[in-house]
Amino acid sequence: MSKILIIEDEVAIADLEKDYLELSGFEVEISTRGDEGLVRALGEDFNLVILDLMLPGIDGFDICREIRQEKNIPVIMVSAKKDDIDKIRGLGLGADDYMTKPFSPSELVARVKAHLERYNRLVGSGLPKNDVIEIRGIKIDKTARRVWVNGEEKTFTTKEYDLLLFLAENPNRVFKKAELFREIWDMESVGDIATVTVHIKKIREKIEFDSAKPQYIETIWGVGYRFKV
Ligand code: CA
Repeated sequence: MSKILIIEDEVAIADLEKDYLELSGFEVEISTRGDEGLVRALGEDFNLVILDLMLPGIDGFDICREIRQEKNIPVIMVSAKKDDIDKIRGLGLGADDYMTKPFSPSELVARVKAHLERYNRLVGSGLPKNDVIEIRGIKIDKTARRVWVNGEEKTFTTKEYDLLLFLAENPNRVFKKAELFREIWDMESVGDIATVTVHIKKIREKIEFDSAKPQYIETIWGVGYRFKV
């Protein structure tokens, strides 16, 4: 049976979530403080964490970050404020999902089930693990050629994907546009290095919280680009 930890200081909400999850066959524990919740999330064997943002002790931002350093279990973050959800996404804490309160408990249950199924498939499949690169909020599954940004899958064209992967696999190195062009587009192809600029722009629109202030792909003026880690 899957064990779920709810870290939530509003007892009525925590109880409601617990009731619904228990009806669906989950074992559920509640922590009403951030600090206590973090200790339990790290020290005990939970399969999934439902994490409120504003909590006494330690807030949800820090808890999510700490959990991610040690565990891959799904984390669903909840907040009363839509603005906070945008902020969490922007920070790239590695949460798997986000919900804005108030939400319907059945929606929560549906998401919990979906995340656990996916997680269990990954962990328990016995198949060789996919080759995955994770850099802050970005996850690139090289085997499946799929990319997620803060838990949300994004679609890339072949060349956008190739360029993103090349930069992510060579982090903190500055590449000239001409070098990137040679690397990603074949040598014979007649092209313009402006193609690189266009592709970088498209990639940024998909991975950056704010394309004007990129957190991942930096422009090194007069030289080229660098994937910052
Ligand atoms: Ca709260």
